[in-house]
Amino acid sequence: MRFEDLELVPPILKALREEKYTEPTSIQEKAIPFVLNRDDVLGSAQTGTGKTAAFAIPILQHLFLDRQKHNGSHKIKALVVTPTRELAIQIAESFTTYGKFTGIKNVVIFGGVTQRPQIDALRRRPDILVATPGRLLDLMDQGFISLNDIEYFVLDEADRMLDMGFIHDIRKIIARLPEKRQSLFFSATMPKNIVELSRKILKNPRKVAV
Ligand code: AMP
Repeated sequence: MRFEDLELVPPILKALREEKYTEPTSIQEKAIPFVLNRDDVLGSAQTGTGKTAAFAIPILQHLFLDRQKHNGSHKIKALVVTPTRELAIQIAESFTTYGKFTGIKNVVIFGGVTQRPQIDALRRRPDILVATPGRLLDLMDQGFISLNDIEYFVLDEADRMLDMGFIHDIRKIIARLPEKRQSLFFSATMPKNIVELSRKILKNPRKVAV
């Protein structure tokens, strides 16, 4: 299978060609059609499988096509929550790379550094926000971020998130998301507490494993 067979828009195919990606990885081949179809997805995949592109590419495509339809309202429409600063930066770089010809902008926020540059970045009106849980809640509580317009939500590395003690933060974030949204949930392992959490987030999910 080739990326050309996945019904992706030309600006995304062009970026993938520039990256010299020839074929989708297994998780991409399975997950991208479901995400494009607006299904919720429960993905069991580790880092290194290409899972970032499996959610980033179809979300960029949704945002690109939505913008062509509604002329762009410039609110944060997609939220990716991930446990660590390193992962957050990598995910944001992936959105930038795959989305370089779409005009879709992302901002990344994480803890352990001063807030000011991140608050300034948020003023540039990103379409996508990539965040670690603590800093996201801090900036929400201070009124710099609203989740009212989120249409696409990704919880990345859910098992690691719970191991790091983020369960309360995750629950608070979920409670602030609109009911009507598409949600994607990724975890390397699927123990009982993760399956329970996924049930609170997903509706009739398609299951994808690699
Ligand atoms: P991830 O599992 O998302 O951390 O991705 C692992 C690595 O694989 C990253 O460095 C990606 O740039 C690379 N990658 C993702 N998808 C593909 C693909 N379809 N072809 C070649 N490399 C890829």
